[in-house]
Amino acid sequence: SGPSGVGKNTLLNAVVARSERVRYSISATSRAMRPGEVDGKDYFFVTRTAFDAMVAGDELLEHAEYVGNCYGTPKSYVERRCAEGMHVLLDIDVQGVHQISENRPDAIRVFMMPPSLAELERRLRGRHTDDEQKICERLAQARRECALAYTYDYIVINDDPDVAAKELDAIITAECCRYPDRKNYFTEVLEK
Ligand code: 5GP
Repeated sequence: SGPSGVGKNTLLNAVVARSERVRYSISATSRAMRPGEVDGKDYFFVTRTAFDAMVAGDELLEHAEYVGNCYGTPKSYVERRCAEGMHVLLDIDVQGVHQISENRPDAIRVFMMPPSLAELERRLRGRHTDDEQKICERLAQARRECALAYTYDYIVINDDPDVAAKELDAIITAECCRYPDRKNYFTEVLEK
C-alpha cells in the first residue's frame, strides 16, 4: 500500500520485470480510466453494477471504496498463482490489507511512504490527472494512510525509485528465505 501518487506503479513494474517468481495482481475498479491507462493492464475497468456483481458472486479476495470509487482483487488469479508457487503483489489500500490479513496470515504487508507530504503533493499535481477537489481529497487520504504505516511489516520510502525497488526486492528475497519457502530442502536431511 501507499498513498495515491507515491509511485507504486513504477516500483511494482520494476520489481515484477526482475523476477520470474513475482506477479502483479490486476485489480477491478469502478473508477474512470485515466489518460494512458490500459484496460486489463492497469486495472479491469468495470461499471459499478458489474463491480457489485463481482462482490455478490464472491469473486473478490478483498474490496474497498476509496475516494468514491470501488476497487477489488480478483480471487481466482491470486489463488492460481499462489498455488503455482508465485509471489503475488497486490497494490491495495489500508482497508484491503486489513481484509487480506484476516484471510491470508502469510501475506506480507509493505507500505510505501513519500519522502514528505509536500513532495507527494508536488507529484500529484504534476500528474495532471485529478482536479483540485480530487487532489485535496487524495492528500487528506494520504495523511490518514501514512498515519497507519505502523500497522505494516515493512516501510519502503520512495525518494529515489531505484533505491525503493532495491528495498522491495530485498524484502521479497528475505521472505523467500523463510522456512515455508525452503522446506523442500529439509526433506533430504530428514530422510537420512
Ligand atoms: P488509484 O485510483 O490512484 O489508481 O488508486 C487509489 C487507491 O486504490 C490506491 O491506494 C490503491 O492502492 C488502491 N487500490 C487499487 N486497487 C485496489 C484493490 O484491488 N483493492 C483495494 N482495497 N485497494 C485498491
